[in-house]
Amino acid sequence: MGEKKRAIWVFGDFRNYFQNRVTLQLISKAREMAGMIGGEVCVVVLGSQTAEYVSEYIAHGADKIYLTEDPRLVEYSMETYSFLMERLARREKPEIILVGATSFGREFAPHVAKRLGTGLTADCIDLDIDEKGLLVQRAPSFGGKLIAETVIPERRPQMATVRPGIFQELPHDFSRTAEIVHVPMPDNMPSDRVHIISREPSPAKEDHLEQAKIVVCGGRGMGSKKKFSRLYELAELLGGEVGATRPVVYLNWANREALVGQAGKQIRPVILFSFGISGAIQHTASIRKSCFIIAINKNPKAPIMKMADVAIVADAGQICNALINELKQRIRR
Ligand SMILES: Cc1cc2nc3c(=O)[nH]c(=O)nc-3n(C[C@H](O)[C@H](O)[C@H](O)COP(=O)(O)OP(=O)(O)OC[C@H]3O[C@@H](n4cnc5c(N)ncnc54)[C@H](O)[C@@H]3O)c2cc1C
Repeated sequence: MGEKKRAIWVFGDFRNYFQNRVTLQLISKAREMAGMIGGEVCVVVLGSQTAEYVSEYIAHGADKIYLTEDPRLVEYSMETYSFLMERLARREKPEIILVGATSFGREFAPHVAKRLGTGLTADCIDLDIDEKGLLVQRAPSFGGKLIAETVIPERRPQMATVRPGIFQELPHDFSRTAEIVHVPMPDNMPSDRVHIISREPSPAKEDHLEQAKIVVCGGRGMGSKKKFSRLYELAELLGGEVGATRPVVYLNWANREALVGQAGKQIRPVILFSFGISGAIQHTASIRKSCFIIAINKNPKAPIMKMADVAIVADAGQICNALINELKQRIRR
C-alpha cells in the first residue's frame, strides 16, 4: 500500500447559494495548496440528499468526498455535526481543515477545533503554505490595524475559517472523478439538545457586489448623500455595483449590504473605482484582489493613491459627473 497522502479537508457547507460558493472557493485554494504539499483535497459532506452538491464539489476540484447521508442530518445541528466531524478527523487525520466563515461555519469550526484539541484562526483573508509545509493563516488583528500570520506547528489538524469572496472557484470540469467514501452514522450518536420546531427562510438577497466585475466604491470624500447617489447612476452605466466605506454606511448614504472591508464584503472586480476613499487597512484588505484600481482623491498622499493603478488628484464628485456625462454621450452616439 502506498503512503497516505496529506489531506486538506474542506467542510461542505451547501445549504444555500452563498455558502455553497465559499465551499467552492475553498476547494480551489485547497487544490492549489495540495499541489504544494503533494496532498489531496477532500470534502466532508454531512446531510441528506446531497448528490448534486457532491458532483458539484468533484467538478470543482475535490479528489475525495467523505459522505454521511442520513435523514437525521437534514437540519444543521452543532452537536451532531461537530461530533461526526471530530470522529472522522480522529480516524483519518487530515493535515488541514478549512471551513467557510458562514454563520454556521463560524460556530461549527471552533466546536470542532475544541473537540480535537487543536488551534483555529477565524475569519482568514488569505492562506498559504510556508517552506516547512505549514498552513500560514492570515487574518486581520488588533481591530484590523495589522494582518496577523498564524501557523500551528504542533497540533493537528491545522484549522481555519475563511471569508467568502477571497478565493476564486475553479471552473466546472465534469470530466473529473473522485473517490467517495461512505461514512455511516454511528449508533452512539449523542442526543441533540436542540429541537427545531419550525423554519422560516429570510428573504433571499443575491450578492452581486462580491461577484461584480466592475465596482464603483465611494467614501466620505463624496461629501453628501446626494453626491454619493450619483455613484449608483455611474455603476448602472458601467454595468457594475456600488460599494461603500464604513463612514458612508454610518452616515446612511448607503446601506449595510454595500459595505466593503473587514466588517463587510471582500470584492475582486476587474475594475474598481475608488471615489473619495482614504484607504484605511480595514477597507483595503478587502479590495487588494481587484485587478485594476482607479482612485480619485483630492489628497495625493492618501494611502489609496499608492495602491491605485491610476491615481487622479481631483474632486470625486466632479469626476463622477464627468464620467456619467461621457458615458451617456457615448450611448447616444
Ligand atoms: C474594527 C474596525 C473595522 C472597520 N471595518 C471597516 C470596513 O469594513 N470598511 C471600511 O471601509 N472601514 C472600516 N473601518 C473604518 C476604517 O478604519 C476607516 O475609518 C474608513 O475606511 C474610512 O472611510 P473613508 O475613506 O470613506 O473616510 P475618510 O478616512 O474620512 O477618507 C475620506 C477621503 O476622501 C478624501 N476627500 C475628501 N473630500 C474629497 C473630495 N471632494 N474629492 C475627492 N476626495 C476627497 C480625503 O482626502 C480622504 O482621503 C473599520 C475600523 C475599525 C476600527
